[in-house]
Amino acid sequence: MKKIAILGSTGSIGRQALEIIEGSGDLKAETLVTHSNIELLIEQAKRHRPTSIGIIDERAVTSEALGKLKEFKVAVGDEAYDLCLDADEILFCIVGFDGLKALDRYIERGKQIALANKECLVSAGEILMKKAKEGQIIPVDSEHSAVWQCLRMGKRSDVKKIVLTASGGRYYRYERARLASITPDEAIRHPNWKMGKKISVDSATMMNKALEILEARWLFGTTDIDYVIHPESIIHSFVMFKDGTLSALLSLPDMKLPISVALGYPNRVIGASPDFAFDKPLTFLDKREDVFFAPTLAYRCLEKGGSAGATLDAADEGAVKLFLDGKIAFTDIAELVRDELERAEIVKDPSLNDIIAIHDEIKNKVINNK
Ligand code: NDP
Ligand code: MG
Repeated sequence: MKKIAILGSTGSIGRQALEIIEGSGDLKAETLVTHSNIELLIEQAKRHRPTSIGIIDERAVTSEALGKLKEFKVAVGDEAYDLCLDADEILFCIVGFDGLKALDRYIERGKQIALANKECLVSAGEILMKKAKEGQIIPVDSEHSAVWQCLRMGKRSDVKKIVLTASGGRYYRYERARLASITPDEAIRHPNWKMGKKISVDSATMMNKALEILEARWLFGTTDIDYVIHPESIIHSFVMFKDGTLSALLSLPDMKLPISVALGYPNRVIGASPDFAFDKPLTFLDKREDVFFAPTLAYRCLEKGGSAGATLDAADEGAVKLFLDGKIAFTDIAELVRDELERAEIVKDPSLNDIIAIHDEIKNKVINNK
């Protein structure tokens, strides 16, 4: 039995991971940690019988809730992160940047990590990946899982470039003027994937692709990264080799597959997703970077280096919050991030603490300036 700790068990990725574990036969949910959704955590604990339970937000803990969790080992606050160290593999699927220090600690302790969270890697990828051992981090993000699998077709030195796919989202064909009136309720509904709010908004603005380009840069150690618009989300990414071979990974758009690959590795979790039906054409659209310019900001970050990724991520986190709170328009998100990235002073070779300070400062500045 491979013992899995899920950091973020109540989220979209965490819940799907529990379904996979339940059906797998050789995976066990050892530790469940969440931020504040105790009601769901208690339900999950009763059903999946983990050894330990963690709640990060102390304010969410009541004596009544603790009473219901008496039979489990429980940790609250920062100690909740450490519970995960007892498992064989940690599924790191909390949203946002707050878990950065925990991720750093897991890497230093040599833990096997299935990484769904992208914000930590985008902000501090250079520092984290220098410490990570080869094979220690298995990507869960569908595009990166695809690249990770396609890279097995040849030698790293024979790779010409990585090409990420992007669905473009529901609004890809909209005129600019129409985009401005998209409401938070509309933006959190993705045509192909069911996800948390933040990533759904990021997908609609295409800032998600900027984050993923930076994620790929650190996971795979290359800056030769392009993207292509593929609305059906059947091809999850490509690796182009120097002999002209294009390797691709195809499957239904179902996060259970990349999650199961990362949890089950080196085994496949049988029946993780339904069989593929060859019932629709696969298409590619032209980029519309005059309107959806967010992915180009990733290349700006690569030019700038240092703390630029943290700046982009923090500005986006702040801007998405403002949008979800109804304080700015949909089209303001990418503009705000672009302006912040151009204005910010970039720190070369930042430490982890520098990254945390910069991230806090930029996020607060973006939120408070509105
Ligand atoms: P959700 O919003 O659905 O879930 C977020 C999880 O993180 C919840 O368990 C939540 O706990 C916890 N959480 C929230 N805030 C904090 C915090 N400050 N500190 C610690 N934990 C916190 O997110 P998703 O599952 O959609 O996404 C998780 C990560 O995976 C993101 O980084 C996303 O970009 C990435 N990802 C997601 C995909 C998807 O299909 N959903 C695809 C690819 C990548 P609580 O419920 O208690 O608030
Ligand atoms: Mg993705």
